[in-house]
Amino acid sequence: MAGIVVVFDFDETIIECDSDDLVVQELGDTQLFNELLPTLPFHILMDRMMGEIHSQGKTIKDIAECLKRAPLHPRIIAAIKSAHALGCDLRIISDANTFFIETVLKHYGLMDYFSEINTNPCLIDEEGKLRILPYHDSTSTPHGCSLCPSNMCKGLVIERIQASASVEGKKRIIYLGDGRGDFCPSLKLWEGDYMMPRKNFPVWELICGNPMLMKAEVHEWSDGEELERVLLHLINMISIEENSNSNYTQLVSLDCKFETIPTSTHENSVLRPPQLLTVGKELNALAK
Ligand SMILES: [Mg+2]
Ligand SMILES: [Zn+2]
Repeated sequence: MAGIVVVFDFDETIIECDSDDLVVQELGDTQLFNELLPTLPFHILMDRMMGEIHSQGKTIKDIAECLKRAPLHPRIIAAIKSAHALGCDLRIISDANTFFIETVLKHYGLMDYFSEINTNPCLIDEEGKLRILPYHDSTSTPHGCSLCPSNMCKGLVIERIQASASVEGKKRIIYLGDGRGDFCPSLKLWEGDYMMPRKNFPVWELICGNPMLMKAEVHEWSDGEELERVLLHLINMISIEENSNSNYTQLVSLDCKFETIPTSTHENSVLRPPQLLTVGKELNALAK
């Protein structure tokens, strides 16, 4: 079953905290952070904080050690492994950065479960300082989305995933997130996709306030146990639906063989996908 792409946000979705807050609180100057917060775009502020942390004599290794203390619910680890074992293509879209995300995933042995991590890139400069760069270069190519910060429009990333996934024959997306930045991509999901907002978090509130804007079906979750239960239920439902569609294809092909169509024109018995999809849905509705 390779028809499902599961897209995770990272902070407060995969991990049970915000990795930027964790590093700033444990290693940085929270007072300076709070002073600069209203004045700087967030990714520039985080880059600045990495500079501050470096100037206090703290190393990349100190940052990594801090990140390894990011809590990750055991049921979320299990959910990631189960979804992967069921053949889903797992990806991350996050406004954190490659260093933070990869450090945490490697620590928990989860790096190989994800086919793609879309986030702000990092580099370590000649002084050994961690630099955080914007995902989109807003100076040369502004993304033009009014919902998203200049450095990253997650909706644009979802559109790229939708385009490449449909070429690969992957039809459905399940998106999990908690933050304001997860609202834009949730609006881009299609009918037949699923949005899993974390209950009582900003994206859940935005969705509750604008239910008519959503084409995807919405399934909330609160904690690791519920995330696992809802996610595996949705994957299971999609796979039952896809199996009944493919059984129907086989039935139609057999019927046609036994009826009047000679084997030389056998390819005529294959229905075009849009018709199949409609019939499959009706069959599912009848079966319920
Ligand atoms: Mg988040
Ligand atoms: Zn956007």
